[in-house]
Amino acid sequence: MINFLDLKSINSQYAAELKEACARVIDSGWYIMGEELSKFENDFSSFCEVKHTLGVANGLDALILIFRALKELGKLQDGDEVIVQANTYIASVLAITANNLTPVLVEPDPLTFNLSPDIVRSAITSKTKAILPVHLYGQLSPMPQLMELAEEFDLFVIEDCAQAHGAHINGKRAGTWGIASGFSFYPGKNLGALGDAGAITTNDDELAEVICALRNYGSHKKYENIYTGMNSRLDEIQSAMLSVKLKYLNNETIRRQSIAGQYLDNIKNPLITLPHVLCKSAHVWHLFVIQCDERSLLQAWLQQNDIQSLIHYPIPPHKQKAYAELNSLILPVTERIHDTVLSIPLDPTMKDSDVAKIIHTLNNFSV
Ligand SMILES: *Cc1c(COP(=O)(O)O)cnc(C)c1O
Repeated sequence: MINFLDLKSINSQYAAELKEACARVIDSGWYIMGEELSKFENDFSSFCEVKHTLGVANGLDALILIFRALKELGKLQDGDEVIVQANTYIASVLAITANNLTPVLVEPDPLTFNLSPDIVRSAITSKTKAILPVHLYGQLSPMPQLMELAEEFDLFVIEDCAQAHGAHINGKRAGTWGIASGFSFYPGKNLGALGDAGAITTNDDELAEVICALRNYGSHKKYENIYTGMNSRLDEIQSAMLSVKLKYLNNETIRRQSIAGQYLDNIKNPLITLPHVLCKSAHVWHLFVIQCDERSLLQAWLQQNDIQSLIHYPIPPHKQKAYAELNSLILPVTERIHDTVLSIPLDPTMKDSDVAKIIHTLNNFSV
């Protein structure tokens, strides 16, 4: 079986270093908010070329805390509208509604599945206060255009970078464009911890200070609380794991780009639509997502040939029971994406022979 993503094989490449780092933390006797966290935060800030990184418990909390901090600073109010693409993973929408803000779900660009500046412009109302571009599948959103739009209408831009560690346009990385950005280090993400983990990046000192308190019970000083905060901290063990894995992220991204390049050059089947790449460096290939009208047949064909594939995502947020109030929205581009997408294996530890087998199997698919 060719696995979709073999985490054991990915992490075993670094097993000796990971075990050494883990032992160092165990022996230190200090497990929360210590040197390992500070080191990872500094390392990740250098990697992104951003002023502040704040480690938190997971990617959803990262996004929740950014909106929460903007509210604490009086920059957002209950009911303000936040524009986000309707085909995102549900966490992006949860972060908006968890803060009593209103998600405005818009159709994505049908080629890239990311926000389209023209569609965003037409969704702006007097209540719009923020845009949440989700760099889906690892491709950076059209950030120069979205930043111009935000400037014109005085909107905050918050990036959902959970799938886009290291993606850049002309050297400017994901996580440095908006007022703040949320990253996830869920094990299957391009930079994955060995458990749940996340971070916020920002160049804004004031926002960083508020988030720093909010993630720790709303406190800067033990037992003194200025906000009704959360417990959302990135622990020392996960920080140490992430510092090890960050050193190899660029290499893994290069491998992902090479596998994606082989797919793009060699998958040739009129029944299959390949992903649309705007700019090679802007894509870090968290997922390689193809489209096929006969998706269930294609998935069964891959399965018969011992190739695992997954659907990201089968149900859009506006069709979820949790969002009954959004169920009546009509978003045909988004719904078609959810009906046709299929993610094929993209694992930096895959062998070239596996890549060749997947290409061959896809090219031989017929109905
Ligand atoms: C993974 C993901 C998140 C949430 O991250 P967690 O660490 O799982 O909470 C948010 N947004 C997107 C687009 C994601 O893919």
